[in-house]
Amino acid sequence: MKNPLLYLLTSGILLLTVSCGENEAPLPSCTGVQFEYEGSDGPDYWSTLCVDYTPCGGKVQSPINITGALDDASLMGIPQTYISTATHIVNKGHTIQFNFDAGSSILINGEKFDLLQCHTHTRSEHELNGVHHPMEMHFVHKNLITGNLAVIGVFVEEGAENPILKNFVDHLPVTKDATYEDPITFSALDFMPSDKSYFTYSGSLTTPPCSEIVTWFVMEHHIEASAAQIHDFEALEHVNNRPVQALEGRMIKHFKM
Ligand SMILES: [Zn+2]
Repeated sequence: MKNPLLYLLTSGILLLTVSCGENEAPLPSCTGVQFEYEGSDGPDYWSTLCVDYTPCGGKVQSPINITGALDDASLMGIPQTYISTATHIVNKGHTIQFNFDAGSSILINGEKFDLLQCHTHTRSEHELNGVHHPMEMHFVHKNLITGNLAVIGVFVEEGAENPILKNFVDHLPVTKDATYEDPITFSALDFMPSDKSYFTYSGSLTTPPCSEIVTWFVMEHHIEASAAQIHDFEALEHVNNRPVQALEGRMIKHFKM
């Protein structure tokens, strides 16, 4: 900067900005705080709603647009031990969630992650080369020792009626916290595409508190459900996709089966 007066002025403004930032009121506790997908409690403001949601403003956030992934021959298929589970559906307000009986797990580099639940987003949260799918399922696995998560994302495309969802779509609980229990069994494997190629990257929960503890595995190939079935989920959870986040230098790797 050639003009010393301008330099002083700019520095002064910068200092003022910094000191104002330091004097901001601390964020409130997150108890009772609701996040939304639009408006003043929407994704752009999650990080400022309350103190535990600040990670939502971080640099390792999800979802992302999956593009420019690097083929990585050192990656392997994900060993999945998925057993049958009875049906436990809960309406979580912003999503419909299926809780799994204990006993299903995956191995990532020898590290065991237990399958806890899967839930749905309409439309998809991840984009593939800039394109959304109408729905995405997230299978949430947890390392019960470290607390780290491995989430498998499966895109759902409009097409043939899904034979597993057919058992449930008429029974999805309508109000928040309502549940539906059914002895009918299914396995997470029923929702996995036969081609297990995937994209993987480091990211976060896509809902507050947006904790950056997730290794993502987004399946390259989609499964299908009918337009009416997808609509049944969308009618309850409405639009619940967080917009894609900046990659911030992260690498996306591709495992090709
Ligand atoms: Zn999700």
